[in-house]
This record gives sequence, C-alpha cells and structure tokens, in this order.
Amino acid sequence: MQTLVLATTNRYKVEEIRRALVGFNVLPRPASLGQVVETEETFEGNALVKAIAVAQGTTAISLADDSGVVVAALDGAPGVHSARFAGEEATDLDNVEKLLRLMDGVQDRSAYFVCVLVLCRPDGKWLSFEGRVDGRISMEAVGANGFGYDPIFIPSDGDGRSFGEFSLDEKNHISHRAVAIRKMVEFVNSPEGLEFFHL
Ligand code: IMP
Repeated sequence: MQTLVLATTNRYKVEEIRRALVGFNVLPRPASLGQVVETEETFEGNALVKAIAVAQGTTAISLADDSGVVVAALDGAPGVHSARFAGEEATDLDNVEKLLRLMDGVQDRSAYFVCVLVLCRPDGKWLSFEGRVDGRISMEAVGANGFGYDPIFIPSDGDGRSFGEFSLDEKNHISHRAVAIRKMVEFVNSPEGLEFFHL
C-alpha cells in the first residue's frame, strides 16, 4: 500500500482526498511542521512549496493541494487568493459575500474551480496533476454542505444545484479535486508511478 503524507490541514479537503484515495495509506500533516506561506502566483507553485516542505520535514512522499475559484468577469479573481479573498482572517462566509457583492448585476457569471495536486518525494522529485470543473456563480448562497465557495458554485454538468447542495460522494464524482485525484491515481498505478514510489 502506498503511503502519502498530506500537506493540507483543511479538514474538508482532507475528507475529500481521503474518501477518493481508496487503497492508499493517507497520513495527516504532522502538527510539528510549521505552516508554509503561499508566496507563489500559480496554483502549481503554491502546491509545490507546501509539498516540498512536508516531504523534506517527514522524509516521506507528500501530497499537496492548491485550489481556488476563477471567475471570468473578475479577470480570474479570486484565483490563487481564494482562501484570503476578503482579508487575511477571512471566513468562508466573508469570501462568499465579497464575491457575490462583486458579481452584483454582472451578466457573465461563468467560473471554474481548479485544483492542482503535487506529489513530492523527499529528494525533491515532484509531479503535478490538474483538475477543473466548469460552472457559474449563483445569485445567492444555497446549501450547507462542503466548504469555501461551494454554496455559490453551480457546476455546468449538474442539475442546477450548487456544490453546497451536493453530498460528498456526489461532489467527489465531478469536482476539480476528484478529476485531479483520478489523474494522480492513474499515474500511481502506472510503471512510472511504481518507480516514483520506490524510495
Ligand atoms: P488553498 O488552501 O490556498 O488551496 O485555498 C483554497 C481556497 O479555495 C479554499 O479556502 C476555498 O475558499 C477555495 N476552494 C478550493 N476548493 C474548493 C472547493 O472544492 N469548494 C469550495 N471552495 C474551494
């Protein structure tokens, strides 16, 4: 069984990743490791700094997730700044309210969620996997499930409900994170993947 140490401490992300990574030994990020400052301007760059810190701190293979929502009418914002869109101490509700305010009266509500996963070995060798799900920003928040922008994101490939109304299993069928995880699992099961895990 392949062992991975997660770089994320976001409990919702951890739950989604754990549920999707059946057959992996998924370990939590050790509390002794300090938080990494996300300094990069790309999802891959931020996932990489988190993955490297955990792989070097644990001498195990790490898995980092960097993700966010990209809104066309806002020139790609919040993007890599999704977590702190409404400020350093912003809650999910603060971020949702700010985004809905900025979208007030805006016709083009198209948006997508993106997730970049980075797998990193302690020797610094790494790979990334990207997943994306297209949709639109709703007029108001609906649903209490999920986290972040889920209550205001309506996936194109759905029945009109927001991600906030999806069960975890439903979200794990089509989400950006699920798509990235499927790509990663495909890699891990390939000959190159077996080689990567052979430390
Ligand atoms: P990160 O920790 O910098 O990757 O922050 C990602 C932020 O993007 C989260 O705090 C959420 O606000 C948002 N986000 C990422 N993935 C999702 C998702 O699946 N649903 C809702 N919001 C998400």
